[in-house]
Amino acid sequence: MELCWHRRDLRVADNRALAACDWTLPVFVFDDSVLAHAGPPRVAFMLDALSALREAYRDLGGDLLVERGDPSTMIADLASEFGVDRVVWNEDYSGLARERDEAVRAALDEEGIDHETYHDAIHHEPGTVLTNDGEPYSVFTYFWKKWRDREKADPVSPPDEIADGDGGIPTLSELGFDEPAGSVPEASTEAAEDLLAAFCDGPIYRYAEDRDYPERECTSRLSPHLKFGTIGIRRVWEATEEARESAESEEERESVSEFQSQLAWREFYTQVLAYHPHVVTENYREYSNGIEWRSDEEGLAAWKAGETGYPIVDAGMRQLKTESYMHNRLRMIVASFLTKDLLLDWREGYAHFREFLVDHDTGNDNGGWQWAASTGTDAQPYFRVFNPMTQGERYDPDAEYITSYVPELEGVDPETIHSWHEIGDDEREEAAPEYPAPIVDHAKRREEAIETFERARGDE
Ligand SMILES: Cc1cc2nc3c(=O)[nH]c(=O)nc-3n(C[C@H](O)[C@H](O)[C@H](O)COP(=O)(O)OP(=O)(O)OC[C@H]3O[C@@H](n4cnc5c(N)ncnc54)[C@H](O)[C@@H]3O)c2cc1C
Repeated sequence: MELCWHRRDLRVADNRALAACDWTLPVFVFDDSVLAHAGPPRVAFMLDALSALREAYRDLGGDLLVERGDPSTMIADLASEFGVDRVVWNEDYSGLARERDEAVRAALDEEGIDHETYHDAIHHEPGTVLTNDGEPYSVFTYFWKKWRDREKADPVSPPDEIADGDGGIPTLSELGFDEPAGSVPEASTEAAEDLLAAFCDGPIYRYAEDRDYPERECTSRLSPHLKFGTIGIRRVWEATEEARESAESEEERESVSEFQSQLAWREFYTQVLAYHPHVVTENYREYSNGIEWRSDEEGLAAWKAGETGYPIVDAGMRQLKTESYMHNRLRMIVASFLTKDLLLDWREGYAHFREFLVDHDTGNDNGGWQWAASTGTDAQPYFRVFNPMTQGERYDPDAEYITSYVPELEGVDPETIHSWHEIGDDEREEAAPEYPAPIVDHAKRREEAIETFERARGDE
């Protein structure tokens, strides 16, 4: 019998470690050192995903064994207790996960129990898409070209025989968490398959054109499923390739590719994390260690609360609170606002996202923040500072997205909303008395940010 240790691969379908087993004891261990960094939305999603996983195992005639403790010793203890011949799991690529896995391997070696790991979460594991000099890519476009042309594996099937675990899953409060502030999407392979089917049935063909417009709701919403592995990447790829075959024009085929390139961004950031584990807490680019970030408790609090007086920024931050999710364009806008307009350290924003996002993923979140802060690989150039007003005007021209999250602005005409920073206090007071005036002057802050970055770069 094999022990299959689930971590961020909470599914039976298209699961490589599981597919490599004949007769399996499936196990999940709540690790307090991981829970210490998790926010309520993610833990709530994970608990639902575990319930769905347990049901899937029950349907196969077995059950999931759920434990709480330190996997470094617990996995070997369980393997001995159940007399398994081999322990299998899927790789996780962050520095902390790899350290933990080393400890698990050492404990298994001591017990004389075989173990094997598989690459499952991504198509091409770190170290397989490299420059011609054998180095990891630091520019996405080149990575994407090579990644795109590599053959992709097909989905795999689970084994026939599953052993019985205890099936006991703790509640959120037993794990020490409050209910999430915002809603949390349904977490199961079925829910992920439904999203994938709905997306491939239409939105994927307008993705290239519409993905930047939050109100058009044309993205897949698969991020928490890819993060927790309620769906396998091979399955997602297969569905997108089928959509490509059904496309009716070159434009539609290109739109499918545009979506697939986002899946490659995920793998690009996984590779960055695998090769540079320090990016979780440190800047990727060394010059940025000299950036003099400000300290501004009030500004940070206003940003978190969605009370900056910049409507598009506030709408994004409030979407995060209400849905435990934020549209990608908004993540870029609010991250730019925090790091450039407020000149606050990206780590403040990262910590907030980590707590509130249901899809927080170390590689992607870190990649996104360091991109916006101009401190990362292939990052936004420091002198290209997003203007929150023109971003709002361009990507939410009718202010529909804004007003759906900022009720104080309901009924105010879009033109007034998009010029909130330049109209007078009297006009603001008349249009929306409950909504704040801008907390900073964007034009001034933009100049200051550029000067700060130039000082750090030694350009002055
Ligand atoms: C500051 C910042 C923080 C972010 N934090 C996270 C995070 O914690 N977790 C996360 O999964 N994504 C993060 N992203 C990337 C992106 O915003 C989300 O993946 C996307 O909004 C999720 O919605 P979706 O599934 O509908 O995306 P879709 O547009 O449907 O994309 C499909 C999938 O591709 C991947 N993807 C899409 N865009 C990116 C990207 N720019 N970088 C890496 N992968 C991408 C995701 O897995 C996503 O689910 C962040 C971006 C920024 C700018």
